[in-house]
Amino acid sequence: MKDKIAEVQLTAESWSPQQVLAWAFETFGNAVAISSAFGAEGMVLIDMASRLRKDFRLFTVDTEFLFSETYNLMDRIEQKYGIKIERVFSLLSPEEQERVHGAALWTRDPDQCCNLRKVEPLRRKLNELDAWITSIRRDQTSFRKGARKVEWDAKFGLVKVNPIADWTSKQVWRYLHEHDVPYNSLHDQNYPSIGCTHCTRAVRPGEDPRAGRWPGTGKTECGLHVIEIQPLTSLPEAEA
Ligand code: SF4
Repeated sequence: MKDKIAEVQLTAESWSPQQVLAWAFETFGNAVAISSAFGAEGMVLIDMASRLRKDFRLFTVDTEFLFSETYNLMDRIEQKYGIKIERVFSLLSPEEQERVHGAALWTRDPDQCCNLRKVEPLRRKLNELDAWITSIRRDQTSFRKGARKVEWDAKFGLVKVNPIADWTSKQVWRYLHEHDVPYNSLHDQNYPSIGCTHCTRAVRPGEDPRAGRWPGTGKTECGLHVIEIQPLTSLPEAEA
């Protein structure tokens, strides 16, 4: 599979998001799924996917600490696109986590909390797939700036597809408005990036869009995308 990815990786950099998605669906069939927490970027991919394939697979890691607005959006997605979101949960309920690891683990050891509620469930889900599709963009965090549109994810052992890796936030919002795509109502209340209730706050004017995630901890990623990607080719000069 790595050889196959090496062949396509450089070419894919010039593809549109729709072309990348179409390639992923054609190449991996039912063994590829979109992973989403239903941020603005994820909604772009979900809408694009629905125009290419009616029965596309979509999953989310439900930490059980999400905002009611996020759960409401999940219901709207299922209705609008006629799909069933595959929900993956931690092996520990919130109550069991508190019994085993103590109260409010996210305040004392957010990395462990994210491992229990996000990374382990994700790993379990990815074990049943050959490829996963994410909505990361290169300009979101320093960890994401080297993302290719098609790459080998060595941490989880499958292909990772990032169709809008080279998009800007402006392009994302233009697409949502032009195509009348539903989005999380918290975005209109200064929440550019939305995760768990315990670890997300609104951002203030002038702050980085991800300043509202794990505020005050120095943490910028939950661990899903801080991974060992093996670059098989170099990015084109303009995008490096
Ligand atoms: S974002 Fe916060 S509450 Fe959610 S899993 Fe990570 S540390 Fe826990």
